[in-house]
Amino acid sequence: MSRRSEIPTTPDGLRKYQRVIDDQDICIGCGACVSVCPTNAWELDENGKARLIWDWCIDDFSCVPVCPVNCIWKSGETPEETKHKDNWYRFSRDLSPEEQKVFEEWAKKYGVTGKPAMSQ
Ligand code: SF4
Ligand code: SF4
Repeated sequence: MSRRSEIPTTPDGLRKYQRVIDDQDICIGCGACVSVCPTNAWELDENGKARLIWDWCIDDFSCVPVCPVNCIWKSGETPEETKHKDNWYRFSRDLSPEEQKVFEEWAKKYGVTGKPAMSQ
């Protein structure tokens, strides 16, 4: 069932979520995560790898168990080296300065140094 209406639109809303992280070096592009996500927060990128739309994830974690190669983790459970890889996520839109701060707090909390892909 779609839960698009639950996508946060405020800094406080964005702050609520831990989110998930994927490793595009392991991803086989099967699309299972894309199919199961209630907010359409996964897409296949230009290389056919899963990319998260960061601000659309609402922590239901239904994508984690469906991945056949186990390359999606809750942010707090992600292997260290994966958190330093680039391009596995993007934003759906330009973030406001306050939202950008929330993103930076999130990255610091989970030790994510990988850079986002350019928004499309
Ligand atoms: S945890 Fe996964 S399935 Fe759930 S909203 Fe986030 S990206 Fe989508
Ligand atoms: S379910 Fe896993 S392997 Fe399939 S596209 Fe998503 S991240 Fe990649």
